[in-house]
Amino acid sequence: MTSNAPYPPALDAGLETERLSQTIKDWSIANGLAVRPPPALVGQNQDPKGILAINAPVTLFPSPFPKSCFEEAKAIQTNYNELYARISQDEEFLGRLVQEVAGGDDFIAKLWEIHLKVKEEGYVQNLSLGLFRSDYMVHQDGDHLQIKQVEFNTIASSFGGLSAQTSLLHQHLSKTEYPLLTTPIPPNTLNLPPNTSAHSLAAGLRAAYEAYGPSILNHPTCILFIVQDGERNIFDQRHLEYSLQQSSIPVFRLPFSQLLTHTTLSPTPLRQLLYHLPHNPSQIFEVAVTYLRAGYGPNDYPTPSSWLARRRIETSNTIPCPTILTQLAGMKKVQQVLATPPGPSTLAKFIPDEEKSSALWRTFTNIYPLDSSSPAGREARRLATDPKECLKYVMKPQREGGGNNFYKGAIPEQLKKVPEEHWNSFILMELITPPAVQNTILRQGKLEQGGVICELGVYGTCLWDHKTGQVKHNEEAGYLLRTKGDQSEEGGVAAGFGCMDSVALV
Ligand code: ADP
Ligand code: MG
Repeated sequence: MTSNAPYPPALDAGLETERLSQTIKDWSIANGLAVRPPPALVGQNQDPKGILAINAPVTLFPSPFPKSCFEEAKAIQTNYNELYARISQDEEFLGRLVQEVAGGDDFIAKLWEIHLKVKEEGYVQNLSLGLFRSDYMVHQDGDHLQIKQVEFNTIASSFGGLSAQTSLLHQHLSKTEYPLLTTPIPPNTLNLPPNTSAHSLAAGLRAAYEAYGPSILNHPTCILFIVQDGERNIFDQRHLEYSLQQSSIPVFRLPFSQLLTHTTLSPTPLRQLLYHLPHNPSQIFEVAVTYLRAGYGPNDYPTPSSWLARRRIETSNTIPCPTILTQLAGMKKVQQVLATPPGPSTLAKFIPDEEKSSALWRTFTNIYPLDSSSPAGREARRLATDPKECLKYVMKPQREGGGNNFYKGAIPEQLKKVPEEHWNSFILMELITPPAVQNTILRQGKLEQGGVICELGVYGTCLWDHKTGQVKHNEEAGYLLRTKGDQSEEGGVAAGFGCMDSVALV
C-alpha cells in the first residue's frame, strides 16, 4: 500500500462505483459468496421452489487491520482451543456456573438436565470435536493497539465458508479492478493474507471422522450436518460440505426438526447413531460425526421432542460437534469467570504454562458478574444501574446468534424488568471501542458508505478425548472479518447488521 494515499480510496460516485459493484455482484454469485434472500426482499412465499440467491453483504475493499493484532490473534488460537477443551472436561466447574445462571435461564438449565440424564445412562463416546471461533475487536490505548476478545463461540461458529470466498473476492479485485480506479491501487500493494477457513474447518471434521474409524456394524459411515429449517446462510455450510466430499466423505444435511424421524439408535451397547436416507430408508449410514449448525438457542427447541432429538445425539456413539458440555463452555459466564479476579488463577488451573496463559489473559477486557454477594458483583450492580456509568458497558445473557444483548442506557431499563435474584444470569462487559475506519458496504444492491467497525474472528479446530484429556488434533483454522456501520451496536451478518470483509494488513 502506498504510504500517503488514503485507503480505501474515495470513489467517484458514478460509473466507477457502478463498475466495482457489478464486478462484486457477478463474482459473488459465480463463486458462492451468497445467501438465500430474506422474505422481506422477495415477498412472503415468493420463492417456493428455493431457487433464488443473492450476494452476501460485503465491503467494496478489504478493511485495513493492524498486522500485529492479526498475527497475535492467529498465534494464540491453539492455546484457546486447548483452554476450551480443558474447560469442557471440567464438569464440576461448568456445573457450578450453570447453577449460578440457571435460576434466570431455563435454556441453560435444560441443557444441563439433558447432560445429567445422559451421564446417568453412561456416555459411550469419549471423543469430542470443537469447531471454535474466538472473536476480537482492536482496542486502542494511546498508541498501543491490542486485541480484546468479544466472545468465544463453541457451537455453530459460522461464516467459515463465506469468509474464505470473501478473501478470494478481495484478492481478485486487487488484481483486476483496484488498479483501474481513478485513484489506482497498483497490484501487489495490499497485504492480503491467505484464508483457509473453509478447508481448515473441513479438516477438523475430517480428523474426527477418521478418528471414529470404520463401522463395526458394517454400515458406511458419514458426517451429518444438523441444520435449521429455512436456513438462509446455506452456502456458507455448503462450502464445508463440498470440501469434505472432495475427500470422498459422505455428508448429509438434516434439519434438527427431522432428526427423530430419520435417525435411530442401534440397539447395541455402543448405541451407534444411524441415519436412514429419507428417500430410501433401507439405506443406512452410521453417523461418525454430528455437526450442529442448529440447537444453539431456545428457538431451535419448540417442543419436548426437540429435546429428545438433542438427547439422541448426546447419548449415541457419534462424535458430537459440540457436546452439551462444550456448548456450555461457550457461556458468556465462563468468559466472565476467566476474566474476573482471581481470573489468572482460574486460567492457570486450565493452562498451567505461564507464557501461554498470560498471552490469553492479555486478550481479556473487564467483565463482571452481576451477583449480590461478591465485591465484583456489587460493583457491577452499581455500574449497571448508574445512568452515566452504564454507557460504557454491554450486558449479555447466556445466548448465541446475535440480537440478545443490552447496550448502554438499555441496561438499567432491562434490569428493572428482571427480578434481582436473576440478575446473575447476565454478565456486564466493558465496551471495546475500536478505531473507526472508512469503507463502503454493498448490501442488497445498495451502497452504504461511512465509518465502520471491524470484528476479527479466528477459527480453531480441536479433537480431544474426554476421558484421558489427550488432545488429538489442535489447529488454527483461518479467519473471519465482519464489519458493521459504526452506529450499529450488533455485528452479526446473519442477523442483518454486519457484512463480510477481509483484512488488508497495515
Ligand atoms: P452473540 O453470541 O449474540 O454473537 P456477542 O457477544 O458476540 O454475542 O455480541 C454481539 C455483538 O455485539 C458483537 O458482534 C459486537 O459487535 C457487539 N459487542 C459485544 N460485546 C462487545 C464489547 N465488549 N464491546 C463492543 N462491542 C461488543
Ligand atoms: Mg458474536
